[in-house]
Amino acid sequence: MLSPRLTLRPRHEARVLAGHPWIYRTDVARLEGTWRPGEAVTVSDAAGRPVGRGFYNPRPQIVCRLLTRHDETVDRAFFRHRLEAAWRLRQALAYDGDAGRVVASEGDHLPGLILDRYGAVCVLQALTLGIEQHAATLAELAAEVVGARAVYRRADPAATAIEGLAGASGWLVGEALPDVEIREGPCRFRVDLAAGHKTGFYLDQRENRPAVARWAAGREVLDAFCYTGAFSAWALASGAATVVGVESSAEAAARARVHAEASGGADRFTLVEANAFDALRDFQRDGRRFDLVILDPPSFTRRKTAVEPALRGYKEINLRALACLRPGGLLATFSCSHHVSPALFEEVCRSAAADARQPVRLRAIYLQAQDHPIRLAVPETRYLKGLLLEVPE
Ligand code: SAH
Repeated sequence: MLSPRLTLRPRHEARVLAGHPWIYRTDVARLEGTWRPGEAVTVSDAAGRPVGRGFYNPRPQIVCRLLTRHDETVDRAFFRHRLEAAWRLRQALAYDGDAGRVVASEGDHLPGLILDRYGAVCVLQALTLGIEQHAATLAELAAEVVGARAVYRRADPAATAIEGLAGASGWLVGEALPDVEIREGPCRFRVDLAAGHKTGFYLDQRENRPAVARWAAGREVLDAFCYTGAFSAWALASGAATVVGVESSAEAAARARVHAEASGGADRFTLVEANAFDALRDFQRDGRRFDLVILDPPSFTRRKTAVEPALRGYKEINLRALACLRPGGLLATFSCSHHVSPALFEEVCRSAAADARQPVRLRAIYLQAQDHPIRLAVPETRYLKGLLLEVPE
């Protein structure tokens, strides 16, 4: 049996040869040998020189994501090697807490695999058919390498539709309650692995929460788009005078209240369950002012074609947030859409500051936590960015 071989079209190789692992259907000249959807294929450039190996799925636009640049078998030993390397990085990061991303897909050279740790439990997400077909093995390896006592598979609706995945959410190894408690520095959070956003928690803000909370002591803080109140809890634990959280989801808001209480700050915390656009407008109109505003909105666009409306959204909330700052106040503002580059985001903030007539200073630049590694040749892996802006006294 001829092992399946995918040959790239001439002039379609540059991105792949420069280090990007994605092969689009339109990049493929031919696929030879016998293959089944989800199986590994060997990829060659137009001249027949091997480029690497990856799982093939004819259904999505991205038919193959390279897992390796070598001619090696993609099996249990391969995955163990990759997982061990990923786990070594997390141990080196030595976060103060027991939750974090263990495998970040392309960022850990395992495109299609997300593995998050929440205490003794791991959550696995398969984003490609090939990875889904190895989900059981990968869950076993998570138990062996990371020491997870239970591994929950969380189906991702977008990937399920795009890749034609079959698997449902459920336990792959062991079993536990899907509601787990984690610790992050001085804070404790309850995470809903089955129904929470992403795999339950915004692990990518891990390093930014303490970095922003550093400026919270004695200040009046607004945490807009607060989800389950992770920034709020950090601010309260860091001695904020008061914290107002704004969140539109009732489930997330309920958890935010619990988390404020757990961080010993229930009496300093107010939760406004509302659309943050409206809440910011009301604060601005009513003369409500803050010393530190945190803006961590959802990705306003998932598509490249819808960047313009997203930019208008970012501009509006940043403009209103700046208007709600007291003299000398700080705005920690984030964007998690990879379609909005760091330069574009900075441009939006510059434009908001100009309209607010605030000669802001750039005090800090934030990125996603280091357990969400960025591959320089893969711009899509660099998605979360933030700025700490200061208005003059
Ligand atoms: N800072 C949070 C993560 C925020 S994610 C953390 O560190 O955990 C963005 C949040 O904004 C989500 O919880 C989502 O429910 C909420 N959201 C989305 N649109 C909103 C809107 N228009 N008004 C208020 N909240 C909104």
